[in-house]
Amino acid sequence: MKLINIPKTSSFLHLEAELKVTAEQALNHEALSHTPRMIESGAYAYVLPEKRDQYQYLTSSPNALRDLGIEGDETDETYQKIVSGEAYQDKEFVKKVPVPYSQAYAGWQFGQFAGQLGDGRVTNLFEIPKLRNVDFKNERFIKSDSYNRKKYEIQLKGSGMTPFSRFADGKAVLRSSIREYIISEHLNAIGIPTTRALALTYLPKTLARRHMAEKCAIVTRFAESWIRLGTFDLYRLRGDRKGIRQLSDYIINELFTVDDLQFPYLTEFLKIKPNFIDFSLSQYDKMYLEIVLRNATSTAKWQTYGFLNGVLNTDNTSILGLSMDYGPFQIMDKFDPDYSPNSEDHSKRYGYKNTPTAIFWNLTRLGEDLAELIGMNEEQLELTSKGQMNDGMISEWEEDIIKRATKVIEVAGEMYTFSFTKKYVEAFFDRLGLSHELISEDPDVENKSLIVPLLDMLKRVQCDYNLFFTKLENIDTITKELKFNNELFEDEELEKFVNDWLNIYKGYLSKNDRDTKDMKSYNPLFLPRGWILDEVIEHTQKTEGQDLSLLKKLEKMSFNPYDDSKWGDELKDVESRWLRQGDVDEQYSMMTCSCSS
Ligand code: AMP
Ligand code: MG
Repeated sequence: MKLINIPKTSSFLHLEAELKVTAEQALNHEALSHTPRMIESGAYAYVLPEKRDQYQYLTSSPNALRDLGIEGDETDETYQKIVSGEAYQDKEFVKKVPVPYSQAYAGWQFGQFAGQLGDGRVTNLFEIPKLRNVDFKNERFIKSDSYNRKKYEIQLKGSGMTPFSRFADGKAVLRSSIREYIISEHLNAIGIPTTRALALTYLPKTLARRHMAEKCAIVTRFAESWIRLGTFDLYRLRGDRKGIRQLSDYIINELFTVDDLQFPYLTEFLKIKPNFIDFSLSQYDKMYLEIVLRNATSTAKWQTYGFLNGVLNTDNTSILGLSMDYGPFQIMDKFDPDYSPNSEDHSKRYGYKNTPTAIFWNLTRLGEDLAELIGMNEEQLELTSKGQMNDGMISEWEEDIIKRATKVIEVAGEMYTFSFTKKYVEAFFDRLGLSHELISEDPDVENKSLIVPLLDMLKRVQCDYNLFFTKLENIDTITKELKFNNELFEDEELEKFVNDWLNIYKGYLSKNDRDTKDMKSYNPLFLPRGWILDEVIEHTQKTEGQDLSLLKKLEKMSFNPYDDSKWGDELKDVESRWLRQGDVDEQYSMMTCSCSS
């Protein structure tokens, strides 16, 4: 169906809006949309995308079009005007669609509370049904996807100033927009939960001041929800207890109930560990634990694939565990636990080895935001459910509330650790072609006996991290291949190190009843590495978005990373160069970049 004809809703608007500026005022006095201010109440402010002098449609993700059920639209002017936000310049169009808005949130940035942040350069447009329910041949996709909401919220990044722009310009440059567009769709293709990207629009007459002046762009993004842990941080900052409860009810009903199945991740966890919790859980406890488990799963997948997001503040941590708000991200070329892709992250807070702890640190802040709700037992929740919370009652219960909340957060920590380890070992087993049946009740057993030695070995050998797994598909030739690619490997000690690990692995293979061919669908042949993105960005910038051949080639390879038959017959020389490993040339390897985007 054409995008214009797909029914559009906006359930986030059921939450309270900023009181000061009504939808009507925002639509009639556009400047109000673009004036930074403190939003004292409500979950969002009404905002129109800012008008730009020229819009140049570049491309749409074929996978995104398929998943949204959008057909026959790409060359259509109406479609192009919606995905760039230009359509919102037409008052008649605006009357026919939900009022666009920017979300309010706060955040803990690098360990410090930063106060009100919010969508400083994003306008949310509307939500549309998720039409396709995944046709991946792999069950893992079907499983995780069916856990998710059946709607997608569409938004524009780089669409101009909003009440949350603070001191910044509301713009996104072409460079970072291409990076976000490619990585979102790539991670989705390899089975890592992420926000998605639909389209890219170039703004040739819009300049932003970064390290130098750069031309801008708009990314059309979509996700089951854009709510972040930081959304809760804002309600805590305001002391708005009623707001926290309303937001939680919205999340429970709208996001965590799919086809009558409530809290799917928690349900799955309790099936495996029925006696893990020895007290009765309220709806709010369950919501909190569901958020914790989803984030544990995603973090485990990032670590298995060597993906790093670079800025994991609470405002960039999704309640659905989606990877989001891509800035200085990178896929690790060689295994180095100290690696951080963010050149400004001097303490490596968001580096590889600190990532699981950083995410749980964020989830603990969420536990504190929710302290009152997860501190009350069901009886107390019932007594306070009608209208305003009763302050008198709460202060009487204070001690018990603190005790209970502390316990829930402790349980959450244990669940996070267990679930992270389980998903991490399972994901590595997928990459190694090993059956999950071989994993003990305590997955840390296999972590210690197989995965820790694997990573120790990869740290020593310094071959390409991800391509190691594709080479392992031919176990008989792997030592030869590693030798060919690594001068260091002439070192006999190192060779012994590899062989020692291969022997452990062969021990597992001898007990394995899974077809190791299966590992092909977990080990991508191609990764959009930093230097490849740079090359495509430079070319697209230089040609003013007129020559999209490199961008289109990168799309094909990044969005179909397991299947080289979909990479096209064109630019074969570029293709083979891009398949070059991260360890061929030091200057191309383990790149870092800054937050400026
Ligand atoms: P990030 O860490 O990039 O996800 O952004 C942190 C905060 O800064 C969010 O509130 C963003 O909306 C805001 N922000 C980042 N860049 C800009 C920009 N160029 N204009 C307005 N707000 C921005
Ligand atoms: Mg952000």
